[in-house]
Amino acid sequence: MNQTKAYSAASATSRLASTKIQRRNPTEHDVQIEILFCGICHSDVHQVRNEWSTVMPTVYPIVPGHEIVGRVTKVGTAVTKYKPGDLAAVGCMVDSDGTCPHCKAGFEQFCANMTLTFNSPDKHLGGVTYGGYSESIVVDERFVLRVPSNLNLAGAAPLLCAGITTYSPLRRWGVTKGKKVGVVGLGGLGHMGVKLAHALGAHVVVFTTSPGKKDDALRLGANEVVVSRDANAMQKHAGSFDFILDAVSAHHDVNAFLNLIRPDGTLTLVGAPEKHLEVSAFSLLIGRRNFSGSIIGGIAETQEMLDFCGKHNITADVEIIPIQKVNEAYERLLKADVKYRFSIDMASLKSE
Ligand code: NAP
Ligand code: ZN
Repeated sequence: MNQTKAYSAASATSRLASTKIQRRNPTEHDVQIEILFCGICHSDVHQVRNEWSTVMPTVYPIVPGHEIVGRVTKVGTAVTKYKPGDLAAVGCMVDSDGTCPHCKAGFEQFCANMTLTFNSPDKHLGGVTYGGYSESIVVDERFVLRVPSNLNLAGAAPLLCAGITTYSPLRRWGVTKGKKVGVVGLGGLGHMGVKLAHALGAHVVVFTTSPGKKDDALRLGANEVVVSRDANAMQKHAGSFDFILDAVSAHHDVNAFLNLIRPDGTLTLVGAPEKHLEVSAFSLLIGRRNFSGSIIGGIAETQEMLDFCGKHNITADVEIIPIQKVNEAYERLLKADVKYRFSIDMASLKSE
């Protein structure tokens, strides 16, 4: 086993702090990666604070982080796709059974035996898996992804969750040229949703609670921006959207956005607020609207998304921070104050 430096939280009310964790020696199918950048997803905050306790209770200590890019340092004897020195990336999953119908169909995210990158039972070492706020990680090569060489690494890291989580439903619901698409919440996921929907040719409308983000939204690829607390501005779009992606991290009124969907259109929730959302029956009945959810994406689709981003030169807009600023970054996320993803420069962990 290898000891590696990391940042962990000891309880739902603790700050993240420097620690040491164990990583396994690479087995024959494993790739060992030195982590260069790791994005901060709002899911990290939800889980560190045990806000999803009814669905996936947090086991402490927790080492978050599932937007990982780095360099391969060692590979197992049976590894064929990677060699030391290659760039490599890891997202939200590190393993699945590979044999169930979901895995066979490329939907590893639905596999009952899927292992998440952190806070999932670790079948190698016992305990739970530890994520990307660390110096290195060891992952089965089936869950390692290729980063297009033209992409900036700090900005590429967030593609591994924010990128795939928005790309997958945009593709699933047929977003193409000529479609009117809304994105609710201009945070890490939302800003990727805007960039990707724009690249797919859609007419993109951003819904934000932060009027100060208007110019950025237009720069990121939005055609229009609506401050969602302005009822008159909302009403102008009633019944007009083919698709809306809701990427809000906190409790909000989803009916206000369902009412903007045209007949047979769809609203997909990717945000995962702690508390239940109330849905009025008539928000769905009128116009025979669809209300759906989506969770990350499969491995093949994640690679497809990375290649799409390589082709269109798309990365996240990042604020690069040292790991020592992680607690401050969490506080800023809770105030919707990030432009538009924090990406941790893992070199900063060396001084701990
Ligand atoms: P984030 O960067 O914090 O962005 C969330 C955005 O939501 C904020 O920037 C803000 O946008 C808006 N918002 C915040 N509080 C609000 C409120 N009270 N009312 C209305 N809008 C509010 O978070 P993220 O990393 O993008 O993650 C967003 C959500 O997706 C989280 O719940 C996360 O856990 C979830 N998630 C789900 C998946 C999945 O697979 N489904 C994957 C990753 C993350 P404005 O300032 O523009 O209003
Ligand atoms: Zn995430």
